[in-house]
Amino acid sequence: MIPFLDLKAQFEEVGEEITRRVSEVLASGNYVLGPYVEMFEREFAKFSGVEHCVAVNSGTSALQLALMAYDVGPGDEVVTVSQTFIATVASIEYCGATPVLVDVDASRQTMCVEKLKAAITPKTKVIMPVHLFGQPADMSAINQIAKSHNIPVVADAAQAHGATYRNLPISAHSDTAAFSFYPGKNLGACGEGGAIVTNDPDVAGRIRVMRDWGQVEKNKHSCLGFNYRMDAVQGAALSVKLEKLAAWTEARRAKATLYREEFGALDMPSSFELPEQYADSESSYHLYVVRTPKRDLIREKLAEQEIQTGVHYPYPVHLTEAFGKLGLGRGSLPISEENADSVLSLPIYPELSDDNVRRIARAVKSVLEKY
Ligand SMILES: *Cc1c(COP(=O)(O)O)cnc(C)c1O
Repeated sequence: MIPFLDLKAQFEEVGEEITRRVSEVLASGNYVLGPYVEMFEREFAKFSGVEHCVAVNSGTSALQLALMAYDVGPGDEVVTVSQTFIATVASIEYCGATPVLVDVDASRQTMCVEKLKAAITPKTKVIMPVHLFGQPADMSAINQIAKSHNIPVVADAAQAHGATYRNLPISAHSDTAAFSFYPGKNLGACGEGGAIVTNDPDVAGRIRVMRDWGQVEKNKHSCLGFNYRMDAVQGAALSVKLEKLAAWTEARRAKATLYREEFGALDMPSSFELPEQYADSESSYHLYVVRTPKRDLIREKLAEQEIQTGVHYPYPVHLTEAFGKLGLGRGSLPISEENADSVLSLPIYPELSDDNVRRIARAVKSVLEKY
């Protein structure tokens, strides 16, 4: 059996030290924020190549607070994509603002630069690209548009820990970036977690206050705040795992390279598309997403051979019931809609063996040969 994700295998590598630090936290009696969270914030800012990191209780909270730090509220528009996890768009709604969803680039599967240009209005308050699957969006073009209109860029980097763009960490290419530490992400907590990283001390300061009930000091509430603090236990776990993140990212890239070699040698039909590699960036390969018109059939046949796969995501956000009110019907974002029907996520994680990558590639090929 090849699982889609194997967090138990990861725990074997880091479990002992996590258990030690978590026990220390439990014995300390201090269960919210605390020294390991602070240590993690310092180290994650360094890893991200920026000055400030504020740890919070989820990636969704990170996105919401990042938008609030730029005063996004009712009457404002935030341009983002529909081909993403629903949390991206929900975070805009939580601020009372209007999500403006644009289509993706057909190859890169991230925000289409031309569509972004066309979507900007005097109400556009923030541009929110998503580094989907770990593939950095076309940031130099997006930043150029943002600068020319003086609009800040808040990136959804929930899948992009360790991704680089023009040889710098991806976080260095937006005004602010939001990360998720949901267990299955490239850097995952033992529960929920998230963080905002930025070089802007005002933005970091405002987020720090908002995550803790708007308190500038005990019992002094300066603004509407939230209970979005990170648990001490998650800080302990993340501080251990962060030490492995660079090596884990390299291992994911090695699996992606192996998939490319294996599929290359198998003479796949031209309708079977591998994730493209770009000279400007290196993906963190949170997901290894191929596109094929035979997606559902491949999933079914691989499941029979105990190979788990995933679909990220079967519905673009504008076609969900939750966001039907945006009034974007079928046909309004054709590339996102086409992708929803053809994307297939194959297993990729540092602990996946090379033999299993080969087995998966051969299994996919044999389905396409037989049916
Ligand atoms: C996981 C994810 C989020 C939300 O993060 P949570 O920690 O689950 O709240 C947001 N955007 C994208 C693209 C994600 O993959």
